Amino acid sequence: MRDLTRQKQAEAKLSESERRLRLAIEATELATWEWNLISNEVYWNEQHFRLFGMQPRPNPVTPDDFLTHVHPADRERLTNLLQRTIDTRSVYDAEFCAVLENGSQRWMSGYGRVVEEVDGQPARMSGVMLDITERRQAEEALRQADQRKDEFLALLAHELRNPMATLSNTLLILELTGGQDEGLPLEVALSMMRREVAQLARLVDDLLDVGRINQGKIVLRLEPLDLVELLEKTIEATRPLIETEHRALAANLPTEPLYLRGDAVRLTQVVRNLLTNATKFTRAGGHIWLSLEGKGDEAILQVRDDGIGIPADHLERIFELFAQVDASRTRSQGGLGVGLTLVKEFVELHGGRVEAHSEGADRGSVFIVHVPLLNSTSHESIH
Ligand code: ADP
Repeated sequence: MRDLTRQKQAEAKLSESERRLRLAIEATELATWEWNLISNEVYWNEQHFRLFGMQPRPNPVTPDDFLTHVHPADRERLTNLLQRTIDTRSVYDAEFCAVLENGSQRWMSGYGRVVEEVDGQPARMSGVMLDITERRQAEEALRQADQRKDEFLALLAHELRNPMATLSNTLLILELTGGQDEGLPLEVALSMMRREVAQLARLVDDLLDVGRINQGKIVLRLEPLDLVELLEKTIEATRPLIETEHRALAANLPTEPLYLRGDAVRLTQVVRNLLTNATKFTRAGGHIWLSLEGKGDEAILQVRDDGIGIPADHLERIFELFAQVDASRTRSQGGLGVGLTLVKEFVELHGGRVEAHSEGADRGSVFIVHVPLLNSTSHESIH
C-alpha cells in the first residue's frame, strides 16, 4: 500500500517535471525529434515542422524528411556524423544550413544521442534542433568588424609611418650638417618638419573626434557666425594645398553675409575635409568648384570636382567610419576613411544634412551640404 502511494507520488513528480520540460522547450522554441532506429520512423514536435517552414503533419516522418531540408553542401557531413554517433554511442552536435520549404536558408544547431538500446543494439535516438541564424549573423558582423579594425590598424600604421620617416630623416640630416648644408637649409628643413607635425596632429585630432563621436561626446560651441566669412578664411588656408599640381579652385560666394548659429571650428573642419578630398581624388590639372548660396532658411554649400568620381554602389557607404572606395587607391593619397564620417556628424549636429553625387568613375563628384540659417528675426539680434 505504501509502495503504491510512493509510486503514485513518483509518477506525479515525473509528469510534473515532464510538464516543466515541455514548457521550457516551448519557451526556447526548441524543436525536438525522436528517431526509432529499428523501424526507422522519426517523430517531430510541431516546432520542428515550423523550423523547416512546414505545416505540422501527423507523425511519423522519415530520416529523409530531415535530410532533404539540409543544404546539399552539409548533407553528407551530417549523414556521416549521425551514423558515427550511433555506432560509437557518442553525441551528435552540429551546426548546419537548412533549406526551408519556401527555399530560404536558415542556420540550425542540432544536438542528440542514442537514448535506448535493445539487446546491445541502438534502438532510439533523441535530440533537439534550434534556429541559430541570428547568432550566426551576429558572429559574422563581429568578424567583419574585426577585419575592418585590422585593416584600419594597418592603414593607421602606414599613415603614421610616412610623416615619421620624413621627420626622422630630416632630423638626422640636421644633426649631421648643423643646418649648414646647402641642399637642405635650416628654414626649408623646419618648414618640412612643421608640415609633417601638422599632418600628424590632424590625424590624431581626427581619431580623437572619432572616439568622441562613438561615445556621443561631441559638443558644439554654438555662436552666431557668418558662413561666407568662414568659407573665405578656410579657402584661403587650403588654397595652397589645393592648387598644387596645377589644380584650379573656383569659389562662388554670396556678396552678403549668411548667418547661422554654428561651431566655427567644426564647420571649418567640414569645409576643409571636403576640399581636401576633392583635391586628393582629382588628378593634376583638375578643377574644383565651391559654391555657397542662401535658399529660404538654409544655406547650401556645394563642393564639386572633375576627379575620379565615386561608383554608385559606394555613394551611401563612403560616409561610414573607415569606409573607402578602394583602400589601395586611397593609401597612395593618404587618409583613414574618417573625414566624411566627421563631415556627416558635424553637419547633422548643426541640424543639417550632407549628400554625395557622382555620375560614376572618372565623372567627378559633388558633395552638397545643407545647414539651417538663422531666421530673419534672430538675424536682427546679431547686429
Ligand atoms: P579618406 O579620404 O581618408 O579615405 P573620407 O571619409 O574622407 O576618408 O572619404 C572616404 C572615401 O570616399 C575615400 O576613401 C574615397 O574613396 C571617397 N571619396 C571622398 N571624397 C571623394 C571625392 N571628392 N572624389 C572621389 N572619391 C571620394
